[in-house]
Amino acid sequence: MNSGRPERPAPIDILGVPVHPVDYAGTLELLTAWLDVVGPDVDGPTRQICTVNPEFIIEARHNSRFRQVLNEAWLNVPDGVGVLRTLNLHGCGLVERVTGTDLIPRLAELCASRGWRMFFLGAAPGVAMAAADILAKRFPGLEVCGTWSGSPADKDWPVIHRLLADTQPHVLLVAFGHPRQDLWIHSHLGDLHSRVAIGVGGAFDFMAGKVPRAPGWMRDRGLEWLYRLLRQPARWRRMLSLPVFVLLVAKEWLAGMAAPK
Ligand code: UDP
Repeated sequence: MNSGRPERPAPIDILGVPVHPVDYAGTLELLTAWLDVVGPDVDGPTRQICTVNPEFIIEARHNSRFRQVLNEAWLNVPDGVGVLRTLNLHGCGLVERVTGTDLIPRLAELCASRGWRMFFLGAAPGVAMAAADILAKRFPGLEVCGTWSGSPADKDWPVIHRLLADTQPHVLLVAFGHPRQDLWIHSHLGDLHSRVAIGVGGAFDFMAGKVPRAPGWMRDRGLEWLYRLLRQPARWRRMLSLPVFVLLVAKEWLAGMAAPK
């Protein structure tokens, strides 16, 4: 039965990982519908969002736990130009990807207008707070109910749990880097005291200006990966997953074309 609420579009399987063909507006619409049902007490089920790029998909091929998390997440948004183009090969007609770094300000604006609380967890000490301060200045009324650097290590859980239980965020942003942030969210899903938990990778570093972001023209041309590689050459090994991703998608696509209809 249609409740009048927006529904998630059917996910597209990309090499064993379901990705939802959504843009920023669609993502915010789904989040609004979910956060709107919240009562005065935030306790209740937490929905997990993953920002899926080709590195996620290649990692999931040999990390079964991560694959399971991605298959169970409530929403997998298409971060990464490779994922966007693959969705469009399936006829999705998307014009933009959904990155954590660009979703956060949009989400902050929404939270400020609706009185929803945000918690910034992860990154090096002080970075989450710097990112949150920038947003709080930009969106008056935004309630940042907490920031904490922490880590996904078990020893940090009691403190993080207490902070979340005390502050009851509507939106929990987790910047521990993938796949650890996504595994961490999934393993604590019943106990996060948040309505939504989103793994956002290095987004706080970008927002706080700790790591420079690729200029707009490079982002528009799908070259953010190249900029990151030039600025942070130590990432070269993990970036090998990009050509591997392209080859595997092309192989699967060609096999699909050759298969009898
Ligand atoms: N990080 C953290 N705790 C950890 C490991 C990593 O807070 O135990 C943070 C790190 O400071 C950085 C982010 O996680 O802000 C990882 O950023 P990256 O760009 O590597 O994210 P990815 O692209 O791997 O998702």
